[in-house]
Amino acid sequence: MGAVRRFAGPIDLHTHSSVSDGTETPGRLVRAAAVAGIRTVAITDHDSTAGWPEATRVAHEIGITLIPGMEFSTRVEHSSVHLLAYLFDPANAAIVAETGRIRQARLVRAEQMVHRIGADYALTWDDVMAQTSDGATVGRPHIADALVARGHALTRSEAFAGILHWSAGYFQPHYAPSPLHAVRLVRAAGGVPVLAHPATRGVGELVSESRLAELVDAGLFGLELDHRENKADARARLATLAEKYHLAVTGSSDYHGSGKPNRLGENTTAPEVLEAIIEQATGAEPVYPG
Ligand code: AMP
Ligand code: FE
Ligand code: FE
Ligand code: ZN
Repeated sequence: MGAVRRFAGPIDLHTHSSVSDGTETPGRLVRAAAVAGIRTVAITDHDSTAGWPEATRVAHEIGITLIPGMEFSTRVEHSSVHLLAYLFDPANAAIVAETGRIRQARLVRAEQMVHRIGADYALTWDDVMAQTSDGATVGRPHIADALVARGHALTRSEAFAGILHWSAGYFQPHYAPSPLHAVRLVRAAGGVPVLAHPATRGVGELVSESRLAELVDAGLFGLELDHRENKADARARLATLAEKYHLAVTGSSDYHGSGKPNRLGENTTAPEVLEAIIEQATGAEPVYPG
């Protein structure tokens, strides 16, 4: 059991650094959170814990609480489903192997997408690598940045709405485990899993109640319902299911630096919810100030 403390001030449990598709280094990200008035911030890069050491150093230095975390890529048929994972053991062999496999699959998939885009637009793999930090989890945002640098789009969002949208014909999915497998991996590594932005696709395309019940049985802790991309109808439906299955509800920004309009602290999580996460976690400790 983790050591639980009382939390004061805003808690933001979902942010990205340049270790994945955020635009700030882990250290800059933690500083930006402090400047924004956040007192507790989680770093949750896609499929990587590589930002934890630097974020930890800076959190100590400036006196902010850090919750080490990750956003696990999972997949249900052709849809990607994101799972936030908090305070798991970053050296857990099964997690290290699975995230390594996902990052490799993302790399191959990005190269294939760039190859296909390159047939119609001036764009090379070097353009994408120029937008990607060493060892970062590669995603469409890096391709978007390369498209912007080449003048094929004005912003990341425009690239996502156009060339990178599945309807443009260049999109390709990548390998990812099922949400059920990921929930089990996270719990087995002492972590606490929360479904990220589970209502982005509207009520018609929700994870079914039976699937959700299966995730709850496997140890799902909560649903990130307070997130700008969740749709109102699906969110209301999931709020009802959260009560029925005793799931916690979290809120966060999903900050990506200048890569997305999401601002730090635009949604936050209640202190009691974070305290319950810490109580259940056995894989890693929060980094407390002082
Ligand atoms: P991928 O996992 O490579 O398919 O890319 C999806 C990632 O792109 C998500 O994690 C989002 O953070 C990011 N993303 C999705 N839509 C947008 C957008 N409109 N603008 C900027 N980033 C986006
Ligand atoms: Fe992202
Ligand atoms: Fe996500
Ligand atoms: Zn995210």
